[in-house]
Amino acid sequence: MICEHEKGLEPVPARTPEGCEECLRTGSTWVHLRLCLTCGHVGCCDSSPGQHAKRHAHRESHPVIASFEPDERWAWCYVDEAMVDLPEEAMPYLR
Ligand SMILES: [Zn+2]
Ligand SMILES: [Zn+2]
Ligand SMILES: [Zn+2]
Repeated sequence: MICEHEKGLEPVPARTPEGCEECLRTGSTWVHLRLCLTCGHVGCCDSSPGQHAKRHAHRESHPVIASFEPDERWAWCYVDEAMVDLPEEAMPYLR
């Protein structure tokens, strides 16, 4: 499905392709990486201690993320709490 939060999204390249922005700053570790499709923030997943992707989504009101794991192609909306269609424009920015 395409949720209303995806409308008008213009995905941009990852700001910190090497890892979770907050974890890199604090020297923490993560399990999986997620890419914010609104601003290019890279955060860690809900199984990671920091849960920075989710916290970023709520704090910045940027609800739609995509997996930033190699060869994974899916997107998730934190408001709808559902898998959503991965926008074509985001493909070049995934790993
Ligand atoms: Zn949504
Ligand atoms: Zn993190
Ligand atoms: Zn964002």
